[in-house]
Amino acid sequence: MSVNLCPGEGGQTKRKAIGLLSGGLDSFIAHALIKRQGLEVVALYFLSPFWKRNPLVLQGANDLGIPVREIFLGEEYLSLIAKPKYGYGKNLNPCIDCKILMLKKAKEVMEAEGASLVFTGEVLGQRPKSQLSWSLRVIEKESGLDGRLLRPLSAQHLPPTIPEQEGWINRDQLLALSGRSRKAQLALAEQLGIKNFSSPAGGCLLTDAHFSYKTKDLIDHQQLSLDNVILLRWGRHFRLTPEFKLIVGRNQKENQEILSLLRPGDFLFLPQNGKGPVALGRGAISETEARLSAQIVARYSRFPEEKARIEVKVYPKEDKKLLEVKPLKDEDLEKWRI
Ligand code: SF4
Repeated sequence: MSVNLCPGEGGQTKRKAIGLLSGGLDSFIAHALIKRQGLEVVALYFLSPFWKRNPLVLQGANDLGIPVREIFLGEEYLSLIAKPKYGYGKNLNPCIDCKILMLKKAKEVMEAEGASLVFTGEVLGQRPKSQLSWSLRVIEKESGLDGRLLRPLSAQHLPPTIPEQEGWINRDQLLALSGRSRKAQLALAEQLGIKNFSSPAGGCLLTDAHFSYKTKDLIDHQQLSLDNVILLRWGRHFRLTPEFKLIVGRNQKENQEILSLLRPGDFLFLPQNGKGPVALGRGAISETEARLSAQIVARYSRFPEEKARIEVKVYPKEDKKLLEVKPLKDEDLEKWRI
């Protein structure tokens, strides 16, 4: 496959296009292709508590000479996760609704910037649900970008967009990729000089079965909030009652992260007569859950005596209580683990 690398078709006014940049190879190829057609390109990089930040986005965009704007999706993304109109993928990933939301935001930027086009790195048939031709069409319609949403990698399989019809995007220079193979993209990466890109697995935690399970637990207990979702990234999670969860650090880094995420009213459990993790309790608690939490913390601690002494306090108060407990047995631990 070969792409004409000459920029723009002669002498047109420079138009602006807004791209969605994930840091994956397909999105970089899409940006390179549109830039090489002579358009001014602005990349949008979306962030949410459900995605890991991709360090290659800024570097790769810089290599292509494309400015990046970051957009954080917070509360509105939470409502989407709880009840996606088009359902979930294999795990709790609401891909169609997720793309519609990002593209609605991209449309707002397009209008504010006086741009005329939004484009993505989607490839027809690459993903089981969100990249079939019906879903590409649904995403285009629901985002309000009818005729102004271009998928440069698969454009020749799709109806021409307004920019192609008007001739300021050359359809012949767009691609006809489809399916799951990465061969053509890897060859294009070489040809277009794209070196910094992430693997297709990506950083969406909602495609991870265990993370999805923990998120579902929050939804089921009406506790889906940004604070609670951010906490899902760290530690072992235990649900002791519908109202109360315990999160136990697995190492020094997780202990620090958990401490940094304490909010007023959270319970903090700290081993006193030995070495062990930090644990955060969130929600309403009784003496029973306090002791059970201390037993769980003791299970992950090392202490020289028969019983562990675990300090409990309510953040940020200094008052503390000391609980003497035996560690919980592993078979009992599993009853509470999420
Ligand atoms: S994989 Fe995650 S980030 Fe990508 S479209 Fe699906 S939900 Fe959105």
